[in-house]
Amino acid sequence: MVTSTKTAYLNFIDGKWQPAKSGETVENVNPANGEVIGLVTVSSEKEIDDAVKAAKKAQKTWRLVPAPARGEYLFRIGDLLKQKKEMLARLLTQEMGKVIDEARGEVQEAIDMAYYMAGEGRRLFGQTVPSELPNKHAMSMRVPVGVAGLITPWNFPIAIASWKIFPALIGGNTVVWKPATDTPALAYEFAKIFEEADLPKGVVNLVYGSGSTVGQAMVEHPDIDIISFTGSTETGSKISGRASELLKRVSLEMGGKNAIIVMDDADLDLAVDGIVWSAFGTSGQRCTACSRLIVHEGIKEKLESLLVKRIGELKLGNGLNEDIDVGPVISKRALQQIDEYVQIGKQEGATLLCGGRIADKGELSKGHYYEPTLFTDVNRNMRIAKEEIFGPVLSLIPVSSLEEAIEINNETNYGLSSAIFTNDTNNTFTAMRDLDTGIVYINAGTTGAEIHLPFGGTKHTGNGHRDSGTAALDVFTEWRAVYVDY
Ligand code: NAP
Repeated sequence: MVTSTKTAYLNFIDGKWQPAKSGETVENVNPANGEVIGLVTVSSEKEIDDAVKAAKKAQKTWRLVPAPARGEYLFRIGDLLKQKKEMLARLLTQEMGKVIDEARGEVQEAIDMAYYMAGEGRRLFGQTVPSELPNKHAMSMRVPVGVAGLITPWNFPIAIASWKIFPALIGGNTVVWKPATDTPALAYEFAKIFEEADLPKGVVNLVYGSGSTVGQAMVEHPDIDIISFTGSTETGSKISGRASELLKRVSLEMGGKNAIIVMDDADLDLAVDGIVWSAFGTSGQRCTACSRLIVHEGIKEKLESLLVKRIGELKLGNGLNEDIDVGPVISKRALQQIDEYVQIGKQEGATLLCGGRIADKGELSKGHYYEPTLFTDVNRNMRIAKEEIFGPVLSLIPVSSLEEAIEINNETNYGLSSAIFTNDTNNTFTAMRDLDTGIVYINAGTTGAEIHLPFGGTKHTGNGHRDSGTAALDVFTEWRAVYVDY
């Protein structure tokens, strides 16, 4: 931590840009080359309290703005995101490392979410039902929860924020948002857009700071009515424990250990495309990244050789260059953790087919790069088959039947995303019915969810809530039943 007066990224509280009282800053570093992008103010409980006060005050009037009029703000925000798409995508690649095409896709998700939720402002359905009694009108309506505390991760710094901020706003809530420490720049640009869209002051407040201080203070704060969190299962479980003691509403989107099943009747070229994109896109740092490849033994050797060839063609480097396939991982710490898992895989007896090393030749030595890695003959009980690695490491587990494949898919603690490549209709429908994950893909990889369907998972991936789709409105609104006697 350094002390500096040159703070670039300030908190945005009650419509004003302000440094935290601590006067401290941390550096925002480009993982591709170690360059410092900016300095970020370091907040504490005080700034959270200021932001909550502003959000609470603003909510009194924001909840009374008709939902279609709240939607008009979101349309304006969507337009601004669209105008700034290329700038935001380039900044996203610089601070987080994902390749530029993926960054463009992420910004597009935020644009889509703005317009989608803006439209929901004209729906926000309740129900009118026949009463059991004469001269009585029975109906339900959605009402805001209040002040929403949003805690987001670094791997999708603008998309995941948009999945939470837009449904919160359209539902009539106001927001206190803590972005991940590793991705402050996108949060700053997003808050500037809210300001430019003339969102009333205090409706969205941005507070920078560490999870253990600022995040924790949000969970504890009595005037934050709901916490919506996306991040690791470890952090989510801590938040969940404390929130349940406080009887606070909490929505959790956490880790994954996603699998692709490849059956012996599959189109293998199609499967290779899906596998490589899902396992190595965003350097394996997606919650939906494929990290287990469950393969029918009849096509194992053929698939292995197709994969080794394709993986060998992937180009590592700074994702701002359009010809790069795989960018850096987020930090040195992440790089070391990935390498530790690779060493564990070797010790456990898995066979390394390609990769397995930190990539540090030439220009790559300036950043945090890991070679796309494929293990085969992985046993379902090995740690690399069970734990989330969050890096470009794929474990191939051979099986002899669909039944065995589904059993292995379902036996991890996580339940986010799964996929099957098959040309058999019976396999397809069996997989749709039996794969225990929140998202199932048929003949596509484990990534690429669309914003108008529910996003989230079962078991230790979530707690029954969903980001995106109309399901997100259930997170950010309360149901009220109303009976009118006349
Ligand atoms: P993380 O370490 O759990 O951090 C997530 C957020 O929580 C960050 O803003 C972090 O702040 C904050 N935080 C940390 N400790 C906290 C505490 N005690 N109280 C309150 N907040 C706290 O996760 P990450 O490394 O950023 O993200 C990677 C993980 O997210 C992976 O497990 C991935 O699978 C998961 N993920 C899940 C989904 C999904 O939709 N299911 C989507 C994307 C990612 P700091 O940055 O300051 O530490």
